[in-house]
Amino acid sequence: MHCDCHIHMVLDGDDWSAAIAAHRASPNLELIRSRLESYAAAGISYLRDGGDAWGVSLAAREMARDYGIDYASPAFPIYRKGRYGAFIGLGYSSESEYLALLDRAERDGADFIKLMLSGIMDFDSYGELSCEPLPPDEMEALVRAAHARGFAVMAHVNGDGAVRAALDAGVDSIEHGNFMSADTVRRLADSDCVWTPTFSPVLNAIGAGRFSDDVLRRIGAQLMENTALAASQGAYIALGSDCGAWRVEHPTGAADELRHMSAALGSGAELVLGLGSARIKEKFRRRS
Ligand SMILES: [Zn+2]
Repeated sequence: MHCDCHIHMVLDGDDWSAAIAAHRASPNLELIRSRLESYAAAGISYLRDGGDAWGVSLAAREMARDYGIDYASPAFPIYRKGRYGAFIGLGYSSESEYLALLDRAERDGADFIKLMLSGIMDFDSYGELSCEPLPPDEMEALVRAAHARGFAVMAHVNGDGAVRAALDAGVDSIEHGNFMSADTVRRLADSDCVWTPTFSPVLNAIGAGRFSDDVLRRIGAQLMENTALAASQGAYIALGSDCGAWRVEHPTGAADELRHMSAALGSGAELVLGLGSARIKEKFRRRS
């Protein structure tokens, strides 16, 4: 695989707050350069970043050209204030604030919009999420406004009902997508939406002693089952490692993710992921 469709240049695979501190005053260009160099050396020619509030992914996008890397960035992820995303994104608490963030993303030259529509998994309690998902009508309004400006939408979303609502809202990719029912997998497969399951932050953490291995294994097993089911139904599935998340290192996340995906999809993994990743490149193409 020559791509990673879900990375965080701002994060370092270890301590998120220390990682962000290194860029807080301004993006640390030396650090970004050395990471891009390592990606190029690993043969990776396409990266899609989830964005950050400090301009790190935008700086990386500019520099990536020097390394022959096609780099897509949403500038920053957008979250609703009080919900998941405050550590890395920009928040809104009203429709007008959301529209102002879309204006800012346009000014910043974002390639697409990244939305935080739900919480993250609790790695110590199976099936639990860190907060409530946004209500379906809000998801719909967010996606509609982004699409009206010509942006594709990359959606962070977990939980069966939340993924279904995100699909109904017309998001262009589902990131993570844990805890989907078979019914929701079917709807995903029937849609044009691409799923990026991000196995690495779950499976790479097994045995590290930070979270419950039992919970990590259960989350991973369900993700495997759903990935195989989605692939058998013709869903678009992309390779994205969530690189920068804890225990997912630059640039080896893509190789980790391919290994995990191969465990789920067998020898068909490369073919499935090739199709899904091509779809990501096409949908999330640079706007300028
Ligand atoms: Zn991520």
